Amino acid sequence: MTNNTIAAISTPLGPGGIGVVRISGPCAYTIMKRLFLRKQPCRPRYGRSSEENQFRSHFVYYGHLVEPLNQTIIDEALAIYMKGPKSFTREDVVEFHSHSGFVVLDRILHLVVDAGAVLSAPGEFSKRAFLNGRIDLTQAEAVIDLINAPCEFAVQMASHQVAGGLRDVLAALTATITRLQAVCEANIEFDESVEDDPVHSTVQEMLSQSILPEVTELIKRQKDTAIFKEGVLLAIAGAPNVGKSSLLNRLVERETAIVSEVPGTTRDIVRDYFSINGVPVVICDTAGIHDTQDPIECLGIKKARDHFHRADIVLLVVEASRKLNAFEKNLIEELQHTRMIVVINKDDIADDDAVADTQQITQHIPQAKVSAKTGHGVANLKGLIFKDLVSGKNRGDHGGATPNLRQRIILEKTMRELQRCLAAAETEQPLDVISGLLTEVLHLLDGISGRRKTEDLYDHIFSQFCIGK
Ligand code: GDP
Repeated sequence: MTNNTIAAISTPLGPGGIGVVRISGPCAYTIMKRLFLRKQPCRPRYGRSSEENQFRSHFVYYGHLVEPLNQTIIDEALAIYMKGPKSFTREDVVEFHSHSGFVVLDRILHLVVDAGAVLSAPGEFSKRAFLNGRIDLTQAEAVIDLINAPCEFAVQMASHQVAGGLRDVLAALTATITRLQAVCEANIEFDESVEDDPVHSTVQEMLSQSILPEVTELIKRQKDTAIFKEGVLLAIAGAPNVGKSSLLNRLVERETAIVSEVPGTTRDIVRDYFSINGVPVVICDTAGIHDTQDPIECLGIKKARDHFHRADIVLLVVEASRKLNAFEKNLIEELQHTRMIVVINKDDIADDDAVADTQQITQHIPQAKVSAKTGHGVANLKGLIFKDLVSGKNRGDHGGATPNLRQRIILEKTMRELQRCLAAAETEQPLDVISGLLTEVLHLLDGISGRRKTEDLYDHIFSQFCIGK
């Protein structure tokens, strides 16, 4: 599998200062020698003799990338040779750091391919790193999370997993379960004969006091931190003309949605993105909910309702200048099981009686008074949204092992197996039955770390990478 030499442009395409072409495999060094002429440090000329165009591992060389046939200079570049196994893939790796720009990089890549490399598939460098044992699957997946991290907090979490945070926790858990299984196996023969059996109580104790709480905590951490990786969906709801589009524009700080005193301007869903304290938020403005015969508005209202039910949080916008109408009261009723904040907008032209009335009717729901027109109260609203989203979530400890969704699903299966195991120990089932259940648990944990070989899974995971990673 790793016999051939792969190459790719490893930096994003487009204008930029530096672009990197990366090569990995047995021909990497030969390709470097063929295409890269180093500038001799002491003599102002280029070497081509076998002694002069040699490269030491993990040194940075300055020189030129050239067309091998006629020595035409392609670009001024830096080149690094990293002899395996001390490289990202554990194979021989070469990097050419040239000027960026698609034409230059494409030309270099073509030369590299002509010199004996093949184009890499997405994620192939990381896949080789994994297959060659440099990283486990949790670390490889964390590299994807690091690349896609939408906020600082997600970067910190992913970095911890790249460094082996989750790998180490799972390794310790696996070692504990293996020891427990060994105790069971060693006592299988005496199983029937011992009166007051200490092995079943040991299994019970270890499962309930150490192993199960640890797996529970890992699952909880994934649930608590998912919003920092995946973001949240926030929908704006309300009657026409209450200021929904104005509020969206205020929150995202640009003119995304059309604002007009003509009711019914927003018919389709208008989407934009912003972040609150690093949490990525997808915000949707929706059609105003009211009684209409207009078929397009009816479609818009249906779409709006779908979004309210899918959203992580709904901002129900009402006006501070008037009391709630029947539609708004119905909407509050309809959304009673949805996480919601009542936004009393147009605070700049507020009618105190109307506001008091609205506050009284919606007293069981978090509320914020704002003016989308002046911006007053919008920072406070953002704070309220953040508080509502992260309430009860353990955000502070980003240094811990945090599984992703795939890993959490396996951990939930592991949890169910562990609970079966606990029940078996409590009812004093034979030790070989308990040992069998523990084997299944270990099997599941190996699926997280990648120790259990599943080519389809690897292909799926590594295809999520960009080319060159
Ligand atoms: P939507 O139909 O709910 O999306 O409402 P728009 O955002 O299009 O606003 C409807 C009208 O209300 C426009 O004329 C806005 O200028 C006005 N408006 C929106 N927010 C405020 C506000 O906070 N104060 C005042 N005085 N007018 C506002």
